[in-house]
Amino acid sequence: MKLFDLSGRVALVTGGNSGIGLGMAEGLAAAGAAVMIAGRNRAKNAAALERLKPLTKDVDVFQADVTRQAECQAMVQRTLERFGSLTVLANNAGTNIRKRPEELSLTEWQSILDTNLTSAFMVSQAAYPAMQRAGFGKIINTGSMMSIFGTGFHAAYAASKGGIVQLTKALAAGWARDRIQVNAILPGWIDTELTRAARRDLQGLHERVLARTPAGRWGDPGDFAGIAVFLASAASDFVTGTAIPVDGGYASLG
Ligand code: NDP
Repeated sequence: MKLFDLSGRVALVTGGNSGIGLGMAEGLAAAGAAVMIAGRNRAKNAAALERLKPLTKDVDVFQADVTRQAECQAMVQRTLERFGSLTVLANNAGTNIRKRPEELSLTEWQSILDTNLTSAFMVSQAAYPAMQRAGFGKIINTGSMMSIFGTGFHAAYAASKGGIVQLTKALAAGWARDRIQVNAILPGWIDTELTRAARRDLQGLHERVLARTPAGRWGDPGDFAGIAVFLASAASDFVTGTAIPVDGGYASLG
C-alpha cells in the first residue's frame, strides 16, 4: 500500500480558493485526490481553479457561503454528483474581526462563530452519510494559535478556534467506529490575505512574528500541503481527535 497516495479519494476544501485552503488543495491534488474547492468569491474561485488544473483534471469549484446550511449541503451534493464520492473534508473557511471585547457587537461575534465554527459542524454533518457509505473518511479542521492562546483583540475568533479543537475531539469520538478520522491543524502566523491587513495596520507585527517564531519566518500556504496529505491519507488511519500545530515552533515556546 502506498501510504500517502490519495488516488480515488475525493476532497472538499472550504475556503479553498486562497491562502491555507489553496495550499492544502494543491497538496491533495498533487497526491492524486479529486478536489472540489468552495468559496464565495467568483473571481477567487476561478483563479484557484486555474492554479489547480495543471495538477489534476479532477478539480472543480462551487460557489457557496458556509454560514448557510443549505449551501453547505449543496456543496456536498455537488461534490458527490461531480466526483461520485466524498472521503476527505477540509473545514478551512474562516474570518476574523480585530476588536477589543467591549467593542465587538453581537452581530460580529455571531458572524465569526458562524463562519469559523458552526460551518465546520454543518459541513461535517452533511458529509457524514457519504463517508459512512464509503466505509471511511478524513476530516481536517483549521484551528489557530488562538485555539491555545488568547489576546485582547480576538474574543470571538479565539472562542471559535478553541471550539474547533473540541468539535474535532467530539466528532472523532463519535465517528471513530465509522473509520472516520477527524483532526485539527493549528496554523501559526501564515502569510495570507487574512494576515496581510494586520501586517499593514499593526506596526512592528511583521518583526514580532519573526522574533517569536522559532523557525524565524512566516508560514507559507505551501506549508499546509504535506500535513493535508498526511491527514487525508492511510498514513493517519490511527490518528484521530488531535490538534497539530503547523507553526514553525510558535506554540512550543508557551
Ligand atoms: P484567506 O483569507 O486567504 O482564506 C480564507 C478563506 O475562507 C477564503 O477562501 C474565503 O473565500 C473563505 N471564506 C471566508 N468566509 C467564508 C464564507 N462565509 N463562506 C465560504 N468561504 C468563506 O486566509 P487564510 O488562508 O489565512 O485562512 C484560512 C483559515 O486559516 C481560516 O480558518 C483562518 O482562521 C485560519 N488561520 C489562518 C492563520 C494565518 O496566519 N493566516 C493563522 C491561524 C489560522 P471567499 O472570500 O471567496 O468566501
